[in-house]
Amino acid sequence: MERLPESLQYLAGKVAIVTGASRGIGKAIALHLAASGAKVVVNYAQSSPAAEAVVAEIVAAGGEAVAKQADIAQGDQVEDLIDSTKKTWGSVDVLVNNAGITRDTLLLRMKPEDWQAVIDLNLTGVFLTTRAVSKIMLKQRSGRIINIASVAGQMGNPGQANYSAAKAGVIGFTKTVAKELASRGVTVNAVAPGFIETDMTHGLNSDEILKFIPLGRYGQPDEIAGMVRFLAADPAAAYITGQVFNVDGGMVMA
Ligand code: NAP
Repeated sequence: MERLPESLQYLAGKVAIVTGASRGIGKAIALHLAASGAKVVVNYAQSSPAAEAVVAEIVAAGGEAVAKQADIAQGDQVEDLIDSTKKTWGSVDVLVNNAGITRDTLLLRMKPEDWQAVIDLNLTGVFLTTRAVSKIMLKQRSGRIINIASVAGQMGNPGQANYSAAKAGVIGFTKTVAKELASRGVTVNAVAPGFIETDMTHGLNSDEILKFIPLGRYGQPDEIAGMVRFLAADPAAAYITGQVFNVDGGMVMA
């Protein structure tokens, strides 16, 4: 990771929490926010060495970061994550709701536990973190909440009834919370990635998938992180709220 020159450190002094930042898209987001000067909480569920490696990369480049384990589907662990961040660094300015899982299978084979696990993390987790940080952000009268949704929540995807329901839920949640928090200067937006090369998409049939991507390739985590970094930036994105930004190689054209 290379820190941007001082003149481009538009997140200097800001505190960001990125959920699920040990790998994939969340890792890229943590590195991009840190490169812009933010202090970053690198949340993870199980991958402690990977999360510590993200922190080490940020610190080696002159930034500030801490790794923090918390299962985002568990309310008490989420409260602890947000409280300990506030205690350590005094504020929470940016929340990126990125942690997510898949439990793909066709509807008729989908077990209630496959449904529930995905809803619990990908949708209820977003509610839990957002509710906890919004108390802080409302008092501060500023804040940026960025939710990682998916094209699956907009166009559906066979085998992902649980996942697309959760991601569509995240989009509706984003718009409602954007309206509730707007008067206090807190913005809430969503980014909808297409197919991005991470552990989550590893092993999918790429010949089939590439037919649906006008740009003809998978996206990279850095390409999602660039959009998130923009949405966190002040004043660049200060007048944007309640929106969904597709970063998907042209899969969904509204
Ligand atoms: P990934 O490579 O599988 O990484 C998932 C991250 O989430 C890991 O850091 C993991 O931590 C964390 N995580 C899993 N369960 C958690 C829990 N209960 N509490 C806290 N953290 C947890 O996934 P990705 O592809 O980067 O996806 C990131 C986000 O983008 C997800 O919301 C996903 O739905 C969305 N998305 C991805 C794509 C894609 O094509 N990849 C497309 C659209 C949307 P551990 O390492 O500790 O397990």
